[in-house]
Amino acid sequence: MTAPNTAGWRPEMGEAHSGDDATYTGNRALMLEERLIFEIGDTATTGVDLDPAPAAPSRLGGLARSTPIGLPGLSEPETVRHYTRLSRQNYAIDLGLFPLGSCTMKHNPRLNEAVARMKGFKDVHPLQPKETVQGALAVINELAHWLIKLTGMHAVAMTPKAGAHGELCGILCIKAALEARGDPRDVILVPESAHGTNPATAAFAGFRVENIPATPDGRVDLAALTARLGPDVAGVMITNPNTCGLFEPQMKEISEAVHAAGGFVYCDGANFNAIVGKVRPGDLGVDAMHINLHKTFSTPHGGGGPGSGPVVLSEALSPFAPLPYTARTADGVIHLIEEADAEEFEREHFGKPLNSFGRMTAFHGQMGMFTRALAYILSHGADGLKQVAEDAVLNANYVLRSLEGVLDAPFAHSGPCMHEALFTDHGFAEGFSTLDVAKGLIDEGFHPMTVYFPLVVHGAMLVEPTETESKAALDQFIGALRSVALRAKQGDPALKSAPHFAPRRRLDETQAARKPVLAWKGDLTGA
Ligand SMILES: *Cc1c(COP(=O)(O)O)cnc(C)c1O
Repeated sequence: MTAPNTAGWRPEMGEAHSGDDATYTGNRALMLEERLIFEIGDTATTGVDLDPAPAAPSRLGGLARSTPIGLPGLSEPETVRHYTRLSRQNYAIDLGLFPLGSCTMKHNPRLNEAVARMKGFKDVHPLQPKETVQGALAVINELAHWLIKLTGMHAVAMTPKAGAHGELCGILCIKAALEARGDPRDVILVPESAHGTNPATAAFAGFRVENIPATPDGRVDLAALTARLGPDVAGVMITNPNTCGLFEPQMKEISEAVHAAGGFVYCDGANFNAIVGKVRPGDLGVDAMHINLHKTFSTPHGGGGPGSGPVVLSEALSPFAPLPYTARTADGVIHLIEEADAEEFEREHFGKPLNSFGRMTAFHGQMGMFTRALAYILSHGADGLKQVAEDAVLNANYVLRSLEGVLDAPFAHSGPCMHEALFTDHGFAEGFSTLDVAKGLIDEGFHPMTVYFPLVVHGAMLVEPTETESKAALDQFIGALRSVALRAKQGDPALKSAPHFAPRRRLDETQAARKPVLAWKGDLTGA
């Protein structure tokens, strides 16, 4: 093994260094400074000693690289430390309350993890013969059954791998249904308060997107929506509970109007956490809705981790669902229906037509998410899930009512909120904004809430505490947010430069957006 790399250390060894906000090493107590791997590594160092590769003829037909690849190397202990130090700079739900609105950052019970790590689940391979994976298929099928039951819908497509992916799946079902009846409708209506993925999905699927305004109390303007319906409208995409944290009580009227005009109703169900066990979207006339297993059904997410976005479908859209899917026949065998056998299987066992639009994924979806979600559902039971929704709503209302005297709460007059509380920067001192409050919260040891979303209010702060926080944890968060909000209202100059105690000071976000540095331009060999 080559000599340990010391390139990360300052050359002016041992000079006296003092100051309130700086140290010789750059470390801040036990929060360790870490430079880029390009700055501390070099091409000569490696964590493994390998013999030189024997010369072999290239099979790349002239496309082989002729210059060294230039990747930085570190010894094994340095590599371990580099990534461990970086990991310690992450905030995580396992460290504290994570109030990111619209994201449902709740505790993930460890029971789910134990189940997902059982050998028969963790080592399963998507290409295994079906008779060797009956248990895994049973999990998918059982979870599908629960999702259909909880939503009051007709069928579910299990394969989509995230909320936005589920939206695409649902919109493609709508597209296929319209094509099947030779209907050229090409407009999707999206309320102003929709999650950004909704218009993006509709546009990606080839629809024209039109906005529907919100009423002063933060809900869909039913009159404006009905007025716009017509023979060119393929459907609507409505988030319920919406991104102002409010339930859309006129969902049934909306669905009836859209159906009467020949369109379909897509419901963004990412916020199902607030209503699970309480409201069945199927009873509200919804045709398609994705469920974020990684939110409501408690599987780890954030940081780009895997998600899962099954889509429940109405009877009208079910024939267009993607393949493959699972089905249990009267003999108890669980089948995995793929393209080759779909038509025949449906005719033989269920006697109904099938008109699938195709596939969303190569295989069967996120197996690890399915096992976690089913473990979560079974361990809660129907009554436990109902309590999840009640507690999530109770906690959000506690935050809303505790802070409405300090922070502007634009829809506090609209009645109770659902799973999240919305505030704005109205009333802050001149020059102070939502961003300052978010940065101040970092100093207080909290991940900031969702900021500047939804767009329907100025300087939005969206707080989703979730049901897994205790009153003590909520009180501490409320105290911190109240303190920072008061500083913003009083115009405390120190808040403008927060965070002061984090590994990094405030970043120049404008410069980062305008001039992103996406490639290392330094000289590795000279490091
Ligand atoms: C999280 C969320 C989505 C997107 O889900 P992803 O899994 O991140 O793709 C869509 N709509 C709403 C309302 C959400 O909260």
